[in-house]
Amino acid sequence: MSPSAVAQLPQHDMGLAKIDMKGKGSSNGHTNGVNGVKKPEFLLDRNLHKTFPLVTRGKGNYLQLADGRTIFDATSGAAVSCLGHGNERVIKAINKQLTTGVPYLCSSYWSCDVVEELCKELINGTGGEMSRIYLTGSGSEAMEASIKLARQYFYEGDKNTPRVNIIAREGSYHGNTIGALGVSGHVARRAPYEPFLMKVHRVSACNAYRQRRERESDASFVARKASELEAKFQELGPETVIGFVCEPVVGAALGCVPDVPGYLTAMRAVCHRHGALFILDEVMSGMGRCGTLHAWQAEGAAPDLQTVGKGLGGGYQPIAAVLISDKIVSSLSNGSGQFVHGQTYQAMPIQAAAALEVQKIQREENLIKNVQVQGAYLEKRLKSLLGGHPNVGDIRGKGLFWGLEFVKDKQTKEPFDTKLGVAQRVHDIAIAAPFNMTMYPGTGTVDGIAGDHVIIAPTYIVTREEIDHITKVVAEVVQLVFEKIG
Ligand code: PLP
Repeated sequence: MSPSAVAQLPQHDMGLAKIDMKGKGSSNGHTNGVNGVKKPEFLLDRNLHKTFPLVTRGKGNYLQLADGRTIFDATSGAAVSCLGHGNERVIKAINKQLTTGVPYLCSSYWSCDVVEELCKELINGTGGEMSRIYLTGSGSEAMEASIKLARQYFYEGDKNTPRVNIIAREGSYHGNTIGALGVSGHVARRAPYEPFLMKVHRVSACNAYRQRRERESDASFVARKASELEAKFQELGPETVIGFVCEPVVGAALGCVPDVPGYLTAMRAVCHRHGALFILDEVMSGMGRCGTLHAWQAEGAAPDLQTVGKGLGGGYQPIAAVLISDKIVSSLSNGSGQFVHGQTYQAMPIQAAAALEVQKIQREENLIKNVQVQGAYLEKRLKSLLGGHPNVGDIRGKGLFWGLEFVKDKQTKEPFDTKLGVAQRVHDIAIAAPFNMTMYPGTGTVDGIAGDHVIIAPTYIVTREEIDHITKVVAEVVQLVFEKIG
């Protein structure tokens, strides 16, 4: 395995020297893992047969492991840790809120300044397109709430409303709870639960790499997608449709596939023509990740309802939100005056304190500008290092949200059999010594074709020097994995 990538790792102290490194390099210090890895005995996580490296500390772009290695986090966890790890301002804000004695309040009868301030910050960030915020503890919960809000919007005006149908896309992911999974078009994640899932109607994904016809322009491609949505409305009866849901850049389900320019505007027009709602899931692609605060702002296609999540709290607290436009707020306000929903852990002051500070830092330090600048450099480097690789079919993304799709045959775009676990292999090699870097693996299905991808999604504080490092490691790991596959 080539060690040259390691030589490129910035060898400054990575900020970790400033924090207490008790347990560093120890396999039997404050952890009980063997050689710094542990097979969970008590925690039921996804992979029951895997061992996991033990993380002891985090700072900036780096994670310290119990086996002494320092890992470069090139994916911000799962595109979450937008400010990096161990941000002292955020830690201070959380501690400050804790010292008030109200990390939690029952949101049915209390609120507090920090919650209101966060909601105001979020509304301001939409340029006035949204007028209320519903705070939840996860992206899945935000999606559940948004689907219920969408239905209630129509129900308030007519208790017998025929609006019962939701249209979503194939190759999409909106969360793992039953309602959110029902909306998701992620074949593998749905499979065991199909009999439980609500009926959601589907149109195709928006994937230029796999679906664009020869010499087809963006405008024609988008027109084709809009006609498909229109046809779906007609098939269901336009008066029965609640709305259409999509991700502006598909994250986990397909690996950073951006909508073709003009797509959001065209799909919104179809929805509005029939009085239905245009709903965007920006849990992964929003809050600056794609180079604008909200991904829809790139073309000004404001939705009626929107979810955000990961980058909202940057991983410092579990928090997500539904951003709600005035027409929906008014419908509820002029109707029952209630959103018939609620969960114990919602709008918690401790969550809000963390997210508010994350958003203030992001705004004050103009980090979205860095997302744009480093994102453009990341694109350039990925394309120049890997554009010619015979097994890299597509390099696509936006801002600091980039995906590589792997193929067996570049000409025909034939993917590898997903049973080979190509993306997982890339991840496994990248995270091991000497590369010591995260890459987020996944498989996805478009028009019945299943394939592998990895996501690169560094923090918003990433530097040009670090992008050089990331791209060099990605190129070396990809080279190595496909040499072995042959
Ligand atoms: N929506 C999108 C687009 C996501 O990427 C995710 C998670 O990856 C979710 C919803 C669900 O969010 P959570 O995992 O916080 O429940």
